[in-house]
Amino acid sequence: MTGPGTLRGVVAMDGPSGTGKSTVSRRLAAALGAAYLDTGATYRAATLAVLRAGLDHSASADDMVAAANAARIASGTDPGAPTIHLDGDDVAAEIRGGPVTTFVSAVSALPGVRDRLVAAQQAVIAAALAGPGGIVVEGRDIGTVVAPDAPLKVYLTASDEVRAARRGRQDARAGRGVDAAVTLADVRRRDRLDSTRAVSPLHKADDALLVDTDELSVDAVLDELLRLAAERGLVT
Ligand code: C5P
Repeated sequence: MTGPGTLRGVVAMDGPSGTGKSTVSRRLAAALGAAYLDTGATYRAATLAVLRAGLDHSASADDMVAAANAARIASGTDPGAPTIHLDGDDVAAEIRGGPVTTFVSAVSALPGVRDRLVAAQQAVIAAALAGPGGIVVEGRDIGTVVAPDAPLKVYLTASDEVRAARRGRQDARAGRGVDAAVTLADVRRRDRLDSTRAVSPLHKADDALLVDTDELSVDAVLDELLRLAAERGLVT
């Protein structure tokens, strides 16, 4: 094998949106022959299920949890082509749109939604670990709740402005024209909600390594993670 090797175990990648988490996580998984799980996509799919049930912010928590938990959500873990299906529909594009993005922090704050999605995420991780490679898992609570025993935990940060600019470029590439000030406000609003919720708030695990991506290219972050994984004996 000529590549850097194969990952063993779980790499937990946490942090707020716009830190380059998805890009780096996918590339790390691809480089190390590992699976990749985007847990944010599962919360977004659950949120879409709530919207499709005709519910909005004014609905009761019980109704939202019931709608989210009635949904069939399936994550495909190939880092070259990750997929997300809701009740058999490919919803990869729809879950990135405005309605889901505005609502997702409210739905993901509900313990009844989290319990079920965390269990599903842990099942995906267990299945990956039963195979030949490991898995790179990204989200907000991977190192703290979903995979607290992960042998490598990374917490990515970047300034609000850099994160909003990255999100803006992603939206533009996907054909979603969004005003820069609106994107910055949305990034800040979502971080505040995700960091202050009662259950599994976004925070760095004590044993996670903090990586500030303001000044680092994707390649530089990836090199650092490959080095860390090898140093910890996670690459064979
Ligand atoms: O990562 P992404 O921005 O797609 O995540 C969307 C939302 O899903 C986050 O703002 C957060 O509310 C929620 N989320 C979560 N726990 C995770 C991953 C995402 O609560 N592990």
